[in-house]
Amino acid sequence: MQKTNKKTVRFFCLSCHEKEEIPTQIVREMDLMDGGDSIIPPRFSCEQCGGEMYPEYYKGVHGQEYRIKDYL
Ligand SMILES: [Zn+2]
Repeated sequence: MQKTNKKTVRFFCLSCHEKEEIPTQIVREMDLMDGGDSIIPPRFSCEQCGGEMYPEYYKGVHGQEYRIKDYL
């Protein structure tokens, strides 16, 4: 049995509440490209409505924590 290390971050659309699982590795890359402005978490565009998707919970590369309830 192989142990998979496939972690994801759950993102929710603030407009239509669509949810999507994004691999943590991709979220971290987005976070690193952000260039250190760490008030706003990495976001994705919703495929359903084009709105912004925020992480349900994500701990950033610099130790900052984001929770979606902070943005609702
Ligand atoms: Zn949406």
